[in-house]
Amino acid sequence: MVKLLDCPFCGGEGHTLPPTCTKATPYDPAHRAFPVVRCGGCGCDVPGKDWDDTRHSAIAAWNRRAVSAPAVAPEVAEKALVDCWNGVNEVIATLESTARLAREANHPEQAKYMDARAAELREAVTASRSALSLHSADASGGGGWNFDMEAAPKDGTEVLICEYGDVFLARWTLGHDNIRDEDWACFMCDGYRKHFDATCWRPLPAPPAQQEG
Ligand SMILES: [Zn+2]
Repeated sequence: MVKLLDCPFCGGEGHTLPPTCTKATPYDPAHRAFPVVRCGGCGCDVPGKDWDDTRHSAIAAWNRRAVSAPAVAPEVAEKALVDCWNGVNEVIATLESTARLAREANHPEQAKYMDARAAELREAVTASRSALSLHSADASGGGGWNFDMEAAPKDGTEVLICEYGDVFLARWTLGHDNIRDEDWACFMCDGYRKHFDATCWRPLPAPPAQQEG
């Protein structure tokens, strides 16, 4: 026998009831020709097919559930998007370098076409980055976010950067000590973290004004 799932409405336990009549039973509206699965919690009935003594049809109907899309964690979805942007950015770079070669080889029409395609792709990446950054910035509770990471100061000024909805106090670091490459770094008392897929940044907010009295 197939196992009964929990009631889709209340989570209660269902039990099967056979038809209350056969084809030979004289007609009586109080009878039921079909089996049901009835919930012991909320009392809902899910009917099966007429004359199904096996009750299988009621069980199949009871156990049927809408198929919902698998839940994707926001950070997983955002990571996938960032990977996608990085892939598209590589395509853009290839298009642009190919366009350069075409121009050098005196094929200006081809170069123009490839530059136009690269520009379209860049626009699409910028639009989706902005949309995601807006979302992330909303999640972190405020406006004032700049979605152009290239515009963030790289002179060592501390700024807030937002990655997948998390905010970090970070500054751009050059290679020194055991930090070899240039990147955003978040320094903490027990070390530092480098390499962020930051989607937006903002200057540090001004400190709160001194309370008078
Ligand atoms: Zn129920």
